[in-house]
Amino acid sequence: MRLMTAVRIDGKAIAEKVRAQVAEDVRAFGQPVCLATILVGDDPASHVYVSSKHKASHEAGIEGRDHRFPADTPESDILELLEELNADEAVDGILVQLPLPGHMDEAKVLRAVDPDKDVDGFHVVNAGLLYLGQPNLVPATPSGIMVMLAEHGVELEGKDAVVIGRSEIVGKPMAMLLLAEHATVTICHSRTVDLASHTRRADVLVAAVGKERLVTTDMVKPGAVVVDVAMNRNADGTLIGDVDPGVWEVAGLMTPVPGGVGPMTIAMLLRNTLTAAQRRRAGVAAPRT
Ligand code: NAP
Repeated sequence: MRLMTAVRIDGKAIAEKVRAQVAEDVRAFGQPVCLATILVGDDPASHVYVSSKHKASHEAGIEGRDHRFPADTPESDILELLEELNADEAVDGILVQLPLPGHMDEAKVLRAVDPDKDVDGFHVVNAGLLYLGQPNLVPATPSGIMVMLAEHGVELEGKDAVVIGRSEIVGKPMAMLLLAEHATVTICHSRTVDLASHTRRADVLVAAVGKERLVTTDMVKPGAVVVDVAMNRNADGTLIGDVDPGVWEVAGLMTPVPGGVGPMTIAMLLRNTLTAAQRRRAGVAAPRT
């Protein structure tokens, strides 16, 4: 077998392009656009993520409201705030940073976000619309991956796409987006028997698990497109993906970690916030029934 070195998908560069375009579109929109975030608890990573979301929003000309609460905040306080933000005409996007503390019912809190302001795309209405092939606000990580694939001209129609991971925020919406582009999609998860037998067939392989080096060289079809979503922390704090670095010698196109999917997620959140503002101000609402 001929060894090759995969072309790197530069998520950072593509994200910068998306962010610059969003900034231009915000200016052209000509009305204030506002993203409100809610963070409960003191998970250091969540605080860093929310701060970078606000920094990126600010750079794109999007205003921010940053609501942070101690871990023991009652769920009812968060539901009350969501009601206020839903009703606030000036707020276009609402993001509840996950995970929430254990005493809160995450599904209930996410359902309390107005689907037209649900810039994470986690609300049951938006998840349902994506499933029905009528996407409204789509989760940022998988939609960012679709932008990266399009940027590299990856053909999906009729191709075998394998997604490892079936979470609501990455795996499932990723599978739906690939299906919408006419790929033949397989979703693998922790109970999948003989994972490699599936991944070896993949023309496009998306790994969204959170287990470093789960995908090894022998599991990848030569020339495949490999997208590594994971952000596992090394002992020294650096980020490492699900895909073994040896895969660079087998794949045709691949995302690095860091500098791949991560930067795209924030860029697509900004895009979703502007989309939510444009639709709501134009009186377009997601169908509820
Ligand atoms: P998650 O909710 O923990 O889901 C992980 C999925 O992997 C589950 O569906 C699980 O299967 C599956 N899985 C676990 N062990 C497996 C194995 N040995 N073989 C095959 N599948 C296995 O995680 P997530 O939220 O989707 O995130 C996945 C990774 O992406 C994490 O590293 C996260 O940090 C990263 N992430 C990155 C970004 C970004 O912007 N770059 C955004 C979101 C997430 P079961 O369903 O059977 O348990």
